[in-house]
Amino acid sequence: MMEQTTMLLNKTSCDSIMETPPLAMLKHQHCPMCNQKSLTLSEADVEVPYFGTLLIFGMNCENCKYHKSDVEAAEQKEACKWSLEVSSKEDLNCRVVRSSEGLIKIPYVGSIEPGPVSEGFITTVEGVLNRIKDQVESLKESAEDDEDKTKAKNLLKKLQKVFWGEEKITLTIEDPSGNSAIISDKAKREVMKQKK
Ligand SMILES: [Zn+2]
Repeated sequence: MMEQTTMLLNKTSCDSIMETPPLAMLKHQHCPMCNQKSLTLSEADVEVPYFGTLLIFGMNCENCKYHKSDVEAAEQKEACKWSLEVSSKEDLNCRVVRSSEGLIKIPYVGSIEPGPVSEGFITTVEGVLNRIKDQVESLKESAEDDEDKTKAKNLLKKLQKVFWGEEKITLTIEDPSGNSAIISDKAKREVMKQKK
């Protein structure tokens, strides 16, 4: 069970702003998937600049291998939209906190959608771009016509230029729970109207 959680925490510990937090664990909990008392809950909190305390949760079932991780702000947050113009290599190193309700969008490139199976994570802008790059690569592999293959190839070229700091893109995250954030002086935050 430690594997997934350790992976999640390693992503946060490679930067001095987020040291590896202590992990609290609760074993033999009820698993929502297989109904056995084989679920381990783990929780850790980290201080995130401009954001506050962030709780990281993990659920791992030894029996059915169910896994889920998510992040949540310790304080109640407003629904918000974050945006960052990514124009340099420094911007690629900015931290991104994404809760399972966060919708990540990069216009003309791709998106990471929220949903019941989506996971919360902490990564960098580069980490987000790598996830999207993986999506585009699998699209390229599965594309049946040449037009789609060419589109995917062009997107990969565009992403490569962003990695080299030669092309600008805008990264946005919309999160009705307010638990997502882009940690940068340059990032803009707008409060979104709550849906009724
Ligand atoms: Zn289970």
